[in-house]
Amino acid sequence: MSTKKRVLITGAAGFLGSHLCDRFIKEGYHVIGMDNLITGDLKNIEHLFPLADFEFYHQDVSKYIHIPGELHYILHFASPASPIDYLKIPIQTLKVGSLGTHNCLGLAKAKNARMLIASTSEIYGDPLVHPQNEEYWGNVNPIGPRGVYDEAKRFQEAITMAYHTFHGVETRIVRIFNTYGPRMRLNDGRALPAFIGQALRGEDLTVFGDGSQTRSFCYVDDLIEGIYRLLLSDYAYPVNIGNPNEISLKDFAEEVLKLTGSNVKLIHKALPVDDPKQRQPDITKAREILGWEPKVGRAEGLRITYEYFKSLPKEELVKQPK
Ligand code: NAD
Repeated sequence: MSTKKRVLITGAAGFLGSHLCDRFIKEGYHVIGMDNLITGDLKNIEHLFPLADFEFYHQDVSKYIHIPGELHYILHFASPASPIDYLKIPIQTLKVGSLGTHNCLGLAKAKNARMLIASTSEIYGDPLVHPQNEEYWGNVNPIGPRGVYDEAKRFQEAITMAYHTFHGVETRIVRIFNTYGPRMRLNDGRALPAFIGQALRGEDLTVFGDGSQTRSFCYVDDLIEGIYRLLLSDYAYPVNIGNPNEISLKDFAEEVLKLTGSNVKLIHKALPVDDPKQRQPDITKAREILGWEPKVGRAEGLRITYEYFKSLPKEELVKQPK
């Protein structure tokens, strides 16, 4: 029997889950990936299938889960993450944040494993505090269209803290701000892949509202480093991980146009309901507790991501959302 530490990663076939699988394999762990492929794609992890230290369970985390043998860590990343996805599958989104998290916490308790959950900047809703630090409780509309995601994640944090304080399960909570990089889906509705996809197809770039709303984009390698450090830290309270370098969506679209050398225009469409006006993480805690801060600048991260999208087969460019 291998003496390697064993880690379960839910949402393994997704954007972030697949990068986590790569990182844990690289660090010498035995990785067990779990995914029901509702928004993920096996292509993201197929390079890991030949490895003896990788196993995959095609399974819904919201149903009963069983993993034989020891388990040292669980990273619960299964959940639809883009508005296009969670508006289409709202009940599954609520279930994976609640029942799925409950199942993972039960497993963590039974195996004496440490569990980290993927929370989100969306728990701050349309924030009234700027930048957002971890002490801010948020401004979320529970019954608005985005409520299914935001409230699932807020419940996820609550049940995770309850397992920590009531059952003594070792838990970690990362509040992830917008992250980008290779393996995002071109058609997942998020700003960066949407802009690049439109530029590659020679279509005008759609900016919602006047484009003055801001976001802060973190390159995926930086995020994964922050998560890795948080998991191995002894800090049980939420930590923001994101890039504080804020940009308006209009300026961001202009950057994409420059990068792609495309001569299409920006067109404006109505703002979606409850769209947050600004987002910027306060990362003081991550700096102080984890010694972490982002290293990859937007110009470099965008270039790598663009190269990735350009390398995809042509049919990916026109593929409809799952
Ligand atoms: P993604 O859609 O690429 O990946 C999610 C994965 O979870 C997919 O492979 C999907 O098939 C799987 N999944 C969903 N429901 C499942 C279920 N019931 N059982 C098993 N598998 C299931 O999304 P992502 O961007 O990689 O996000 C991963 C996690 O990070 C999510 O929990 C998301 O809320 C969180 N997050 C992401 C971001 C971001 O910028 N990408 C920001 C904040 C939080």
